[in-house]
Amino acid sequence: MVRLLIVGPQGSGKGTQGVRIAEAFGVPVVSTGDVFRANVVEGTELGVQVKEIIDAGSLVPDELTSAVVRDRLSQPDAADGFLLDGYPRNVGQVLHLDQFLAGRDESLDAVIALVVPRDESIERLHKRAVDQGRSDDSEAVIANRLAIYESETAPILGVYGTRGIVDEIDGVGELDTVTDRIFAALDARGLVRSS
Ligand code: AMP
Repeated sequence: MVRLLIVGPQGSGKGTQGVRIAEAFGVPVVSTGDVFRANVVEGTELGVQVKEIIDAGSLVPDELTSAVVRDRLSQPDAADGFLLDGYPRNVGQVLHLDQFLAGRDESLDAVIALVVPRDESIERLHKRAVDQGRSDDSEAVIANRLAIYESETAPILGVYGTRGIVDEIDGVGELDTVTDRIFAALDARGLVRSS
């Protein structure tokens, strides 16, 4: 039973690493970006509401995002743990999550903060734009998303840092090397992997 959050700038590899960690701990990945994108593709009411915001690289309003997360974390597969990717993304969302988890007598066990220099993030995002054709990986939108990361998201590490649950991980290197660094940090917290 483990509750994790992975944080990092766009292009830090957090999506890929998040899947690996979640698999190793036997918990589902809860990615707000994935939920929003799936809704856009399916043309749901939520998808219609968020499409323009995502395409601009801006943040979906907190209330809407937090409602999506509450709903997702209430599914049976998240009862015994989860890995959050992309949420919380600002201090307001941290408070929403705190309140929700406190209502279940739960809290996060660890926050994995992937550290990748800005130049490297931008390079990886350009590559992903070519490989995956995401509508929010254009030059201007990438700049907006990274700016929002610095101003809104990075501060959440200060909040979690005061709780002593942040592990800063060097995100530069081979995928396996970065995964091993994350595992080592979680091992040191006594968090036990199921595989
Ligand atoms: P991601 O795949 O995590 O980069 O998310 C893609 C887009 O979905 C973001 O650029 C935002 O527009 C939106 N989004 C994802 N997570 C959140 C969140 N926690 N709060 C607000 N907007 C979000």
